[in-house]
This record gives sequence, structure tokens and C-alpha cells, in this order.
Amino acid sequence: MDKADILSLTSEELEREILAMGEKAFRAKQVYDWLHVKKVTEFAQMSNISAQMREKLSKKFYINSLKIKKRLVSNIDNTVKYLYGLRDGEAVETVLMEYKHGNSLCISTQVGCRMGCRFCASTIAGWVRNLEPSEMLLQIYETERDSGKHVDSVVLMGIGEPLDNFDNVVKFLKILNSEGNGMSLRHLSLSTCGVVDKIYELAELRTGVTLSVSLHAATDEKRGAIMPINKRFHLRELMTACDDYFKSTGRRISFEYSLIEGINDTDESAEELIALLRGKNCHVNLIPVNEVKEREFKKSRYVERFRQRLENAGINATVRRTLGADINAACGQLRREDKAEVK
Ligand code: SAH
Repeated sequence: MDKADILSLTSEELEREILAMGEKAFRAKQVYDWLHVKKVTEFAQMSNISAQMREKLSKKFYINSLKIKKRLVSNIDNTVKYLYGLRDGEAVETVLMEYKHGNSLCISTQVGCRMGCRFCASTIAGWVRNLEPSEMLLQIYETERDSGKHVDSVVLMGIGEPLDNFDNVVKFLKILNSEGNGMSLRHLSLSTCGVVDKIYELAELRTGVTLSVSLHAATDEKRGAIMPINKRFHLRELMTACDDYFKSTGRRISFEYSLIEGINDTDESAEELIALLRGKNCHVNLIPVNEVKEREFKKSRYVERFRQRLENAGINATVRRTLGADINAACGQLRREDKAEVK
């Protein structure tokens, strides 16, 4: 029988499993604490659990782990980029960034991506598989262990589309937010290219997670040309879902807008964005697009001019500081390079 991934179980699921083994419920709490608070890597380290029960656990379960395949440290700003190897030989990227308000970790949610955004390196070779909850948690646990730093906030903005791996992402959130582990989900942002039906589902769960929406263009024509998801869910549906998310959670939406020369950085595009967002309680993050070698897109030269236009129209906008520019911190690039080296 294949062993099960114990780190991916929520506390309720673990309790059910432990009761089914004929053990008492408080044992489940102890085991959960070893896994998610003390973060042990072997059953043998669970010193208040009897040898007999540890034996039973290790027959039924394994404790998942990640292997550091690469660690790149930026000489400019201390950003650290990890390439983590998974059990099946796949790899994902995780980026640790230092801000004034604390350390922020950008984690991946899938191996590859099937959303097809034209400017994004993560989607070029398509989707391979979803990450398990344990593989998302371990990106945090392993980075804290390796760097000796505490992760204060987490952004689901690495490789993959989190809402295309909805069930596992929700379980991950539950475990991260559980007693003992206790990261407030207010310190967590989930970034989506706009999977509208799942935005409604997420709102219903009342997790308190901040929603970031990758907008990148403010008309269906322009957005559809660079983001295939816009053919499935048009802008109007997306904006209605965002309004609903704000109404039901009280969390202000943050819109990502990567500026690409000649594509979405003109004064006309700025006016379209202003028309789309006017009156909404939101924030716009402007990002000079990261040039990806397989793609032709160029960084815009009008980032500041674009920001100024938004600000003049009363729309809250900041230009995201580029971190880790010397270590290819744009998502998907390191994994692609690694694959190319192996071939
Ligand atoms: N799939 C999710 C999260 C991962 S991408 C999403 O689409 O939001 C994280 C962010 O980086 C998104 O806003 C995405 O559009 C943006 N992005 C992808 N490639 C980029 C590039 N080359 N330059 C700048 N931003 C990019």
C-alpha cells in the first residue's frame, strides 16, 4: 500500500486518521504539533509519542520534504531564490524578499501552469501537476529553516495559478492558519489571473486572504490578446467578482499591472484603466514587465508617467520595487533554466 502524505492533512483529517488507528484524540494534537509547530522531519523525533504508535504512523504515512536544488542570493538586496526539488523529481521556485515591514515569501502552487499568459515564463512548457498542501507548506518551513529568518507574510505568486488548484490551496490555508501554526491569513495574498467562479468560492469561505488580480489590460480586446483566461471570463464578469469579494470580505483588492512596451503602457491604456477602476476601493501595483528570453515583450519606458496619470485620477498606484533583478527572480525562469541544463 502506498503511504499517505501526513503533512497534507488538516487537523480534523489527522484526528480522524488517528482515531481510526485506535488512538486517543489528544494524540492527534500532539502529532500535529510535531509536524506543524516543531516541524520535525522524522517520526522518530516525536518524543512524547510511544515507539509503538510511531511505528504504526510510519507504516501508514510519510513526512514529505523538499530538497534545495539551487539557492541564489542577490547581491543587490538580499533576495534569496530557491529551486526546491520535489519527491517525484519535479522542481518549483520560492523567493524570499526583505521589506521594511518584514520578510515576505513568494511560493509556487503548481508545477508549471496552463493559463497561457503570453508574457509569463511559468506557462511556456505547460502544466505538469498540482502541488500538494504539504509542498506549499514546506516551501515556508524549509525556507525558514535554511535562512534562519521568520516569514512574516506569504504571497501565492510563484509558479502556477492558485485558483486552478483550489482544493489543495484551501487545505494549505487551513493548515497555515490552524492553532499553533497560526499565521493570520491577513498576511497572505493570493494572486489570480482571474478564475472568476473560484473567486466567488473563495469569498464564501471567508478566509480573510487578500486577493490580487492580475489585470494587465483594461479592455477585453487588449487583455484577451495577452491573457487567454479573458476569453473564458470577460472583464466585466471579473470586475463583478472582485466587487463581490470586497463586499463579502471587506478586503481591498489589489490589481497587478505589468507594463509592456507598446502593448498596455500608452496614455490610452491608462485612461482605460482609470475608467475601469474609478470609484473602486482598490490598489494598483505597477510592475515593469520582466523580460523573458523566449518572449518578445519589452519593459515599458513609461512606468512613472503611467503611475502619475492614475494618481491624478485619484487611483491608488505604486510601482513595485524590482527585487532580485540579478538572480532572475521572475517566476518560472529558474525552473526552465534547470530543465534546460538537465537535458
Ligand atoms: N497565476 C497567478 C499567480 C502567479 S503569476 C496570477 O496570474 O496572478 C504572479 C504575477 O506575476 C502575476 O501578476 C503575473 O501576471 C505576473 N507575471 C508573470 N510573468 C511576468 C513577467 N514576465 N513580468 C512581470 N510580471 C509577470
